[in-house]
Amino acid sequence: MSEHVAEKRDTIIAALGFPRLLMEREIKRRACPQHYHFNEQAEECVDCLYILECQSFSKQLAEPELMQASARELARLLQFGFEYVSYQPERQDHETARCACELCDWIRAVTPMVDLG
Ligand SMILES: [Zn+2]
Repeated sequence: MSEHVAEKRDTIIAALGFPRLLMEREIKRRACPQHYHFNEQAEECVDCLYILECQSFSKQLAEPELMQASARELARLLQFGFEYVSYQPERQDHETARCACELCDWIRAVTPMVDLG
């Protein structure tokens, strides 16, 4: 792996820490009988309102998973994380180009890395 490619991977993996943190905050607002480890066998997981966040937090976006992910998979996850952060309800009415909140900050930093086409 070239140095440049490795660096790009590290940047993406680091960037994905933020949507993972938001998801963690979201799911930990309430008690979870599975201790926030998504379990597809468990009925309460399948019916859970936070299934997307929990699956992402505990599986796809978990750091060991990201270390193993292919470049294509990382790009897909970054796109997903970007959309997740962009559509956070508390970001309504933010002027992203100027806003100093952590959500807008992250979006500005990640926009050049995401394929918006
Ligand atoms: Zn903002």
